[in-house]
Amino acid sequence: MKILVLNCGSSSIKYQFVETKDKTTLAKGQVERIGMSSAILTHQPINKDKIKIVGEILDHSIAIEYVIAVLLSPNHGVIKDKNEIEAVGHRVIHGGETFSGSVLITDAVMKALKDNIELAPLHNPPSIKGIEAAKAHLPNAPQCGVFDTSFHVKMPPRAYLYGIPLELYKRYKIRRYGFHGTSHRFVSQRASAMLNKPIEKLKIITCHLGNGSSIAAVDGGRSIDTTMGFTPLEGLVMGTRCGDMDPSVILYIMAKEGLTQAEANTLLNKHSGMIGLSGVSSDMRELEDAVMAGDKKAKDAFDVFCYRIKKYVGAYTAALGGLDAIVFTGGIGENSEMVRQAVCKDMGYLGIELNEELNQSRPGGEVDLSTSNSKVKVLKIPTNEELVIALDTEEIVEKGLSEVK
Ligand code: AMP
Repeated sequence: MKILVLNCGSSSIKYQFVETKDKTTLAKGQVERIGMSSAILTHQPINKDKIKIVGEILDHSIAIEYVIAVLLSPNHGVIKDKNEIEAVGHRVIHGGETFSGSVLITDAVMKALKDNIELAPLHNPPSIKGIEAAKAHLPNAPQCGVFDTSFHVKMPPRAYLYGIPLELYKRYKIRRYGFHGTSHRFVSQRASAMLNKPIEKLKIITCHLGNGSSIAAVDGGRSIDTTMGFTPLEGLVMGTRCGDMDPSVILYIMAKEGLTQAEANTLLNKHSGMIGLSGVSSDMRELEDAVMAGDKKAKDAFDVFCYRIKKYVGAYTAALGGLDAIVFTGGIGENSEMVRQAVCKDMGYLGIELNEELNQSRPGGEVDLSTSNSKVKVLKIPTNEELVIALDTEEIVEKGLSEVK
């Protein structure tokens, strides 16, 4: 089945056009600067050159019209008729407590998405716009929603409740939701395939390390805990986000610096984490270059990043009551041998032994990076969230389901 996967942000849309039969991406690209006169569409068809179009794209509906037009283009397209787009899969950040699986988008689902806007005021409105536009331009294609939160929704209360009055959870749904769910789900399933063991029998820690980073404890294929929380700010120290912190610090900074709520939000989301600590960069490649060049602040920021991951590996091994595999994925997890080495250093007592030579050699694809003696397998697995979205969409459409887990 040919499926258009859409990931709509406030001013950008990323897309992939996937053939699920052989799991290939026929074309991919993105529209940036939506709402401006100099919007940019970058389109990469399979086995052809990348093209760039600059022009006025004022809203998500026009952007999606352009995406469909470029997929149909005689020179750069990959289809001849709009109806070859058999279904559309949408990445939706926040499904709240309503969605524990991917769903066919119906009027009732749209209403529930709108009801969840308060939980993700920045992320869900663009997804809703994208769904409405895709429906209008592709009225014959079923639309499905795949949520970043749904893999984590069934965590036990001991993992999702915060230590605040329960009434506030009930009134405002303040709890741990967790994000990157499609990635954690995908790589834990791939780990089971690599280890040739049913996922029901495995205890896995999945580390999705990228610009945004999170870790999940996956027991028997289910997420039982994860580091991101009510929003994607909690947990690991990230490129620009602070991660775990004493909540009093926020109140203290706001008072001392005279910050508004919006300014404090920007400080913690955009100017903290590795950029805030190092003053060098939020980008791990640049940070590593600075570490190698002897920059002390960059080294401290790097150490803070890796130490927080190591702490969570220990914590989640305890939460899982044992560990079979630790998975590294995301731009940093897949590519940074320095981070993997720092996280796995001196973890022999937990049964984690990294094959340092193999790790240094930066092997591509899915690789077992542990020594043959390592009780816990250390796996590097490239994530593929778009493929998960396409496969969930296919399953819903082909089986006539309203929901898949
Ligand atoms: P993502 O958000 O998953 O695309 O990941 C982006 C992050 O991956 C950025 O911090 C990049 O610097 C990092 N990254 C990509 N390639 C490498 C590499 N070869 N070594 C270290 N970090 C990398």
